[in-house]
Amino acid sequence: MNIILLGAPGSGKGTQGTILSKRLDIPRVATGDLLRAAVRDDTPLGREASQFMTRGELVPDRVILGLIEEVLASPEAERGILMDGFPRTVAQAEAVDARLAERGRAVDHVLTFEVPRDELVRRMIGRAAAEGRSDDTPEAFEQRLAVYEEQTTPLLDYYRRRGILTVLDGTGSIDDIAGRVMEAIEQ
Ligand code: AMP
Repeated sequence: MNIILLGAPGSGKGTQGTILSKRLDIPRVATGDLLRAAVRDDTPLGREASQFMTRGELVPDRVILGLIEEVLASPEAERGILMDGFPRTVAQAEAVDARLAERGRAVDHVLTFEVPRDELVRRMIGRAAAEGRSDDTPEAFEQRLAVYEEQTTPLLDYYRRRGILTVLDGTGSIDDIAGRVMEAIEQ
C-alpha cells in the first residue's frame, strides 16, 4: 500500500504517520527528517538544503527529485511506503507517480488533515519548545504556511480528481484522529 500524507506544517502528519506506519507495517519516510539528518551530517545535500529550510521555503525540486527517486527505489519501499511531507509540488507528485508506475504500483490513498490556523500556530509553539527546530520560529512558520498554501494545496485537486483523496478532521485527540485515519484506509 502506498500512502501519502498531505497537510500544513503542524497538521499532524508526523504523529499520525508514525502510528499508521506501525499499524500497516510499512516504512514511513519523511523528506523533512532525511533533510534534517543531511544538515546535521553536513553532507552536500544538507549544505544545499539548509538555507531554504531555515527560511521556511521549499528545497528546490532539482535537489529533492533525486532524493525522492532514491527513496522509492530502495528495497524497503518494495512492499509499500508511507510518504510524509512529500510530494509537495506537482513536479514531485509526477515523479512519485512515474517511479511507482515503473514497479507496476500507484498511490493508493492520500490523506490530508484539516486544522484551523490558530491551532497550527499553537502546535508549532509547543514543538519549538520540545524539539528546537530552526524553522519553528514565528517568521519561518508563517512562511511555511504560505508555501504550503501556494505550492502544495494544488496537489489536493491533483489527487481529488483521481478519487484517492480523503480530507480528515485533524483536530481532537491523537487517538481520535488515528481512528479516522484507519477508517479512511479501510474504505
Ligand atoms: P517538514 O519536516 O516536512 O516540515 O520539512 C521541513 C522543511 O524541509 C520544509 O520546510 C522544506 O524546507 C524542507 N522539505 C521537506 N520535504 C520537502 C520536499 N518534499 N520538498 C521540498 N522541501 C522539503
